[in-house]
Amino acid sequence: MTDKKLTTNKGIPVSNDQASMTTGEGSSYTLLQDVQLIEKLAHFDRERIPERVVHAKGAGAHGYFEVTNDLSKYTRAKFLSEVGKKTEIFSRMSTVGGEKGSADSKRDPRGFAVKFYTEEGNYDLVGNNIPIFFIRDAIKFPDFIHTQKRHPTTNLADADMFWDFLSLTPESVHQATFLFTDRGTPRDYRHMDGFSSHTYMWYNEKEEYVWVKYHFKTAQGNETFTSEESILMAGENPDHATEDLYNEIENGNYPQWDVYVQIMTNEEAKEYKFDPFDVTKVWYHGDYPLIPLGKMVLNRNPENYFAEVEQAAFAPSNFVPGIGPSPDRLLQGRLFAYEDTQRHRLGPNHHQIPINRAKNAEINNYQRDGPMNVDDNGGSGPNYYPNTQNGPAPDISFKPPAIEVQGVIDKHTRPVEDADFVQVGEFWRRVLNDTDKEHLVNNIVGHLGNAQERIQYRQTSLFYKAEPEYGTSVGEKLGLDMEKVKTLSEMSQEERVKATKM
Ligand code: NDP
Repeated sequence: MTDKKLTTNKGIPVSNDQASMTTGEGSSYTLLQDVQLIEKLAHFDRERIPERVVHAKGAGAHGYFEVTNDLSKYTRAKFLSEVGKKTEIFSRMSTVGGEKGSADSKRDPRGFAVKFYTEEGNYDLVGNNIPIFFIRDAIKFPDFIHTQKRHPTTNLADADMFWDFLSLTPESVHQATFLFTDRGTPRDYRHMDGFSSHTYMWYNEKEEYVWVKYHFKTAQGNETFTSEESILMAGENPDHATEDLYNEIENGNYPQWDVYVQIMTNEEAKEYKFDPFDVTKVWYHGDYPLIPLGKMVLNRNPENYFAEVEQAAFAPSNFVPGIGPSPDRLLQGRLFAYEDTQRHRLGPNHHQIPINRAKNAEINNYQRDGPMNVDDNGGSGPNYYPNTQNGPAPDISFKPPAIEVQGVIDKHTRPVEDADFVQVGEFWRRVLNDTDKEHLVNNIVGHLGNAQERIQYRQTSLFYKAEPEYGTSVGEKLGLDMEKVKTLSEMSQEERVKATKM
């Protein structure tokens, strides 16, 4: 037994927590004046907050980031200023499409989010375990995610929705290919890489800027499940990756990622053979080698899952001086949507929740009030700016570089380009070995085979366009007429869609 006294949530001592206050000893009426009972039930009724619309199932841990290579000539970010510098971090890893109770082993990209508690405020890097994405314009994101969720009528996952959308969105063929390799079913959260996926800006104190992509390479090595293993694991232990991360850290086996960046100058960006800001493409390592930057170590488990993991609010719009956005259209949408989701999920003062609070920087501004304001709300300081009352003032020395832009405002549709298929072909020919290819094809066939035949044709022709051997391997296993696949692959996307309509 404990000396700690049980109290209500107002701190009032409780005399009995096993019986309601009733009118008699046996079956009887319960009194409304049992405020402890009312409080307990009412709080329980409100325990659930909205689950994340994506990345609902996840695990997280505390740790640190340490600089191992001085790249401070490119960025003024203080946490990257010298070798040996350590910054506290919190990282959350997750699946994407599944609900909060879904299986960790499901085929899905994995979220890879890191919050750096720097002395210049919190910096969030919110990426995935795959270096690219299915779409390159944020306006397509809600539709894309709907195709991963449940069918409005059957409430079931639906292969038609999934492949109909992907085959109507050919820029997705690169990531669809990655997803159906065994890297789409990583063994757990420790045995996978992380990527910023997007291109970001780094700038120094002279306002000179470069473009960067981050790569977190797992020091544990990449390990994956086969499709069969992932399906078995979903039944045996749907929480296996959550459990693995927790147990390994508890046992002192701290997972580590070696962090690299690729760096491209603005001049190079204008000339690169692919649009360097298009998130459906990588920068080839041969063109832009990985430059070491640091390491990330996870060495402390959360004490309370809800407080630290569920309430962790990541947003790619949280930059520190020295780091900024790029003209990546998907990123531009995410800069709004993540913070907006946190306002919806946790409220407009979610930055005051301890896991989200800037630990190593002061917060000084003129925002006041709002639901669940739990700090001193600016105390007796002024609540307007400008003022002559000693209130905080902006510092022009933190100004990011000016970027020159010329443009025409329009709804600029980005057409499907031959370049959308080039890297997929390179991936098939140069990176995947025979076993990888066999698994990729079987994994696709096992899923695409559940979609309508006309959709199978449309999607397979995209694989064929990327690399005839790839498309042929998929098409033959699906039992498709390969002449028809080839013909479709040679059509424009418009013609292809017309030829495969209902
Ligand atoms: P490289 O030939 O230099 O390296 C191949 C890359 O592919 C490595 O990063 C490797 O990761 C990764 N890889 C290996 N096997 C798989 C797999 N089964 N599923 C997913 N990724 C795998 O790459 P290039 O830069 O020359 O690009 C060639 C193609 O490789 C690209 O078109 C792209 O499709 C793919 N790729 C490129 C990446 C990049 O950032 N440049 C990153 C990942 C893939 P690891 O070292 O962990 O094995």
